[in-house]
Amino acid sequence: MKAEQSFATWVEVDLKALKKNIKILQKETGVPLMAVVKANAYGHGYMPITRSAEESGVDWFGVARSRMALKMREEGIKSNILVLGYIAPERIEQMICLDVSLTVWTKEHIDLVEKAAANCKRTARVHLLIDSGMGRLGCHPEETLFLARLAVKTVGIELEGLFSHLAKADEADQEPTRKQEKVFQKVIKALADDDLLPGIIHMANSAGSLVHPETRYQLVRPGIIIYGLSPSAEVHLPVGVEPILSWKSVLASMKELPPDHGVSYGHAYVTTKKELIGVIAVGYADGYRRCPGNSVLINGVKAPIVGRVCMDQFMVKLENVPNPQIGDEVVLIGKQGDQEISANDLARVWETVNYEVTCGIGARVPRIYPDN
Ligand SMILES: *Cc1c(COP(=O)(O)O)cnc(C)c1O
Repeated sequence: MKAEQSFATWVEVDLKALKKNIKILQKETGVPLMAVVKANAYGHGYMPITRSAEESGVDWFGVARSRMALKMREEGIKSNILVLGYIAPERIEQMICLDVSLTVWTKEHIDLVEKAAANCKRTARVHLLIDSGMGRLGCHPEETLFLARLAVKTVGIELEGLFSHLAKADEADQEPTRKQEKVFQKVIKALADDDLLPGIIHMANSAGSLVHPETRYQLVRPGIIIYGLSPSAEVHLPVGVEPILSWKSVLASMKELPPDHGVSYGHAYVTTKKELIGVIAVGYADGYRRCPGNSVLINGVKAPIVGRVCMDQFMVKLENVPNPQIGDEVVLIGKQGDQEISANDLARVWETVNYEVTCGIGARVPRIYPDN
């Protein structure tokens, strides 16, 4: 089957499927979603994803880098945006001027935000992050009351949110999440007693949203599940939530090699008989790892990768592929005929998680939105 796109490799994202996923998750969780679109929407392309999510009623977006928040505003996104972590002090003022919400967890942050807010003559929207057990960003639980008091009384700061992040919500053992939830609850109570509680409390990532209803509060922060992937084998996706990304390439060349002929750098593979070897126009510079053990789909059949993955191409064995032709579409992630290769399949071979697979698809790979 000839490829439908005139690229060497490309990603197709199904925005209809994204909207369907969001609808199902809105229904399932019963609270508003903050769609986490950091890392270029987990590799899916942040602008089309953000626009489609907005059309589905999402009005909060979580990003990691202030640069992405800036780009989103430049491209006309008016919804709420929260930078979930570190911002270079020099960027704080810019974020406040763009009405982007900031995460703080130290007195130093609050002081910096106070100054920046005064400079741009605007109120800064701030979310206080508590480390309830993640061991990453966030204040110690016992510091929360002090920081919340400080934020609330500081001119130019609106304490908009209070949040925490779950470390093990995707695992079978629910105890660590319960423990984090208890810590967070205690903080919430302390703040409520002092009338300091902000309007938006949030804690749940994808796994929390689905598995731990008590962590949903006023807003859930799903990332991976809106893209139709599960955070782990222990978390089952609601019926109808489907992957929205396919990664494709083409059969660029093929030839018959004689027995005992080396393939690719280092000749890590050597033919054992006369073999038809195909060249696929995608390599590690596109984010396809230099790591043996995967297959691709060509004409509805799995073709195993042989030899080392190169920067811009890799080789496959074509012996089981019916009638291969130069220019045939090759599926690296997605469906072809009744076969499917998932981001999870690649992750297993690469000894990582599906998150890293989609985030790792290179910037040079065009993203296409067929139904848009
Ligand atoms: C990445 C991230 C999320 C989303 O995580 P998923 O597992 O993809 O749902 C939510 N909150 C914070 C703070 C994050 O860093």
